[in-house]
Amino acid sequence: MYQNKSRSGESAVSIIGAGIAGAWHALLFAQAGHAVTVHERSDASMTESTSHWAGGMLAPWCEAEASEPVISRLGVRSLDLWRQHFPHTPFNGSLVVAHGRDRADFERFARLTSNHRRLDAQALRELEPSLEGRFREGLFYPDEGHVEPRRVLPELHAAISRAGGKIEFNSDAEAGDLDGIVIDCRGIAARDTQPDIRGVKGEMIVIESSEVELSRPVRLIHPRFPLYVIPRGDGRFMLGATSIESEDTGVSVRSALELLGAAYTVHPAFAEARIVEFGSGLRPAFPDNLPRISIEQERITVNGLYRHGFLLAPALAELTLGFIARGVIDNEVMRCA
Ligand SMILES: Cc1cc2nc3c(=O)[nH]c(=O)nc-3n(C[C@H](O)[C@H](O)[C@H](O)COP(=O)(O)OP(=O)(O)OC[C@H]3O[C@@H](n4cnc5c(N)ncnc54)[C@H](O)[C@@H]3O)c2cc1C
Repeated sequence: MYQNKSRSGESAVSIIGAGIAGAWHALLFAQAGHAVTVHERSDASMTESTSHWAGGMLAPWCEAEASEPVISRLGVRSLDLWRQHFPHTPFNGSLVVAHGRDRADFERFARLTSNHRRLDAQALRELEPSLEGRFREGLFYPDEGHVEPRRVLPELHAAISRAGGKIEFNSDAEAGDLDGIVIDCRGIAARDTQPDIRGVKGEMIVIESSEVELSRPVRLIHPRFPLYVIPRGDGRFMLGATSIESEDTGVSVRSALELLGAAYTVHPAFAEARIVEFGSGLRPAFPDNLPRISIEQERITVNGLYRHGFLLAPALAELTLGFIARGVIDNEVMRCA
């Protein structure tokens, strides 16, 4: 059925988009012996992609608070794939804290999620000494990890090349112009063929402080301004992220105030931190906020990764490969025309 075989006898595969979805697909297909070419319209800095702006948390248990079980199922599988392919990925866990007045929301979060340990103030201090005296208790999710998108995307691209794949940057591709198997991973730009995809704006701020040290992402539960603080190394922290039904890509004064104000309540030293960057990205989402692999013969579209692109991309790529190699269908995420 599939033409353009590689030397190993596997079909040639074109992938459109080198964001987190396209990059993981390219890696697994290239390693499986396919002749892979990735077309990416951005240059290697990837600033056009949503992936460039992400937090990179790999948090299937925390995310269960507000997502369907399929997100945890695929997320847990992805953790194995991150470990297997990028063994240096930090798996230091994640920490969830709340101020005393938000106790009810904290308990709700604990109830809706699993695979966590409760920490009292002393255990919290041992885990994150910078947070000493800030919170009376916390929830620790020991098996979660995080990656830094701006480091891991180039690493993925290099791994694709090592596996024999080709990446063409500054290459604006049209699925109809490509032969063989085409995997469309264009995210929000795929609206021409997937009209129900929408962008959900996420704003983030990077700050720098030498007075706070964190070893893992910290989430602050708050009824109006939930926040996470992700350590980026060299005294830098990413503050994220808003979730706004808008496709404007600016950062509003309100969002900046909320993110910075919430960070200040995590640690007062953040008040003296230097602001390094404001930015925002559009999370590609279907109406149900679930990922989808749409299959129409040799045309496959992988989209709707919403707020879970880094968490889900490895497992989704493995499912797409399983379909091409063995015809395996995952009924929860695949739609066949
Ligand atoms: C602020 C923020 C924080 C987030 N935090 C997290 C997090 O902690 N953990 C997590 O798992 N997820 C997180 N996300 C979600 C995650 O970023 C997205 O789910 C993910 O980036 C979507 O990846 P993608 O590959 O589908 O799309 P993209 O990253 O947008 O990649 C699509 C690529 O296709 C390219 N392209 C488009 N059209 C063409 C064309 N015609 N030809 C060639 N190339 C084309 C684009 O240039 C782009 O590079 C966050 C998102 C935001 C905005």
